[in-house]
Amino acid sequence: MSLFVVSKTRFDVRRLRFILENRVSKKLIKSLLEDREGVATIDRLLDDYIMGTVSKRDRIVYYAFFKILDMVRMSFNRTEDVFKEELKNITIRKVFLNGLKSIKNFGFTVPQSFDSPVMVVWNYTNNCNLRCKHCYQDAGVMGSRMGKRELTTEERKRVVDELSRYDIPSIFFSGGEPLIEKDFLEVARYAKSKGFYLTIASNGTLITKDMARKLADIGFGYIQVSIDAATPEKHDEFRGVKGMWERAVQGIKNLNEVGLTPVIAYTHTKDTHNEFRGILELRKKIGAYKVVVYNYIPVGRGDIENDPTPQMREEIMKIMYDELQNEHHVLATTNPVFGAYCKMNGASSAILAHYADLRVKELGAIADVIGGCGAGRAYVAIQPDGGVTPCVYMPNLVVGNLMEQSLGEIWKDSPIMKQLRAREDIKGACATCEYQAVCGGCRARAYSYFGDLMGPDPGCMLNLKYYEEKQKELSNNRKKEELIDKHLLKVG
Ligand code: SF4
Ligand code: SF4
Repeated sequence: MSLFVVSKTRFDVRRLRFILENRVSKKLIKSLLEDREGVATIDRLLDDYIMGTVSKRDRIVYYAFFKILDMVRMSFNRTEDVFKEELKNITIRKVFLNGLKSIKNFGFTVPQSFDSPVMVVWNYTNNCNLRCKHCYQDAGVMGSRMGKRELTTEERKRVVDELSRYDIPSIFFSGGEPLIEKDFLEVARYAKSKGFYLTIASNGTLITKDMARKLADIGFGYIQVSIDAATPEKHDEFRGVKGMWERAVQGIKNLNEVGLTPVIAYTHTKDTHNEFRGILELRKKIGAYKVVVYNYIPVGRGDIENDPTPQMREEIMKIMYDELQNEHHVLATTNPVFGAYCKMNGASSAILAHYADLRVKELGAIADVIGGCGAGRAYVAIQPDGGVTPCVYMPNLVVGNLMEQSLGEIWKDSPIMKQLRAREDIKGACATCEYQAVCGGCRARAYSYFGDLMGPDPGCMLNLKYYEEKQKELSNNRKKEELIDKHLLKVG
């Protein structure tokens, strides 16, 4: 999943490469990551920096490090006091460590390949109280993927333990509906105690006042609530149960009341295409902080017929771009093509901001390094049985299981993850696209359309001919099926 926001901040990637790729920097990074008496040197130096107790010797030996730290502080427009306060945050420390280890192990790559995932999306369960038309997980009341086992509470805690062995800053709980699970709060509290930044993708219908308070007590970051239409009828039809729009909206209000940050997750499909402007208005009306536009991928129950055309996607991107430029709304999308769209239209950066909040703009400084499809490169998904997939929209492409292997082993050694990180084999217009570094095409869409992880992303206008060829093939298949049905009826 790769979420973007537009940023006007310009950052010189070549300069960053020059700073990080020379021999002295490489040596410095190596020494910063060295452990002395169980504490990484970088952690000790950051603690001293925060307390103002850096020794004379360290000032000389790690002069370049403190210089870079200052550069980072200034590009994020922070006073020293604010910056020091932020550096106490364990999530930010993990980002630092992950970044350094990534450069040490993979070199400085554009986009950057990460030593361990920056974000984990955990499909906590296949159970759900709704029956949404587009569910990629094919979830349902009894866990629609019948026969597939789900982890026990102890095993779920083992997953948290495993994740905490790496510098993974955030866990994003999804499903199914995570809040339906009896042990969810217990496991989430456990994860929080291990220093993760936590978010949830929920259908919002179970977020009562009491639940909102419990989530706030645990210390969740933002909470995404799915709303696909500005009016109840369309949303309820899409979600498969009446009365759910009102409950989702109430869920957002309840989150606001306890001081949590609610975000609207809107899935852009053919059915909901005309709802986008209404959703933006609704955001203001009910006080949601941001709208995230989900890039519909036809997997699970998601029907390919409901997939918006590349032209429809462009329409939504244009609205997003204009609204962001005018600063009317805070928006993000899981469509990596938006990164390319922003570049094509003159924005200096389009940035990955899945768990970023009020500071998203400043993150523009590193946009070009972290942007584009993050599957297997910056992010990974966990299935309800502990299976690992490169992205939630590839629920059947299991590359390992956390009950049997370590995440590090899967992340580094899986041939599929390696293939996703190396973009040389990408096909179609994506192969030679000048925006590949900030986009790379949605690999899940390519896989869902062509069964080829390295195929062209048919949601992009630059790949229009592949989209049209596929549509033609699908329409011919439908005609053939109709003929067979008619024939069978006659025979019958
Ligand atoms: S495959 Fe698509 S949905 Fe998954 S991370 Fe890449 S762009 Fe995002
Ligand atoms: S051609 Fe591929 S890499 Fe280029 S913008 Fe389109 S989807 Fe992205």
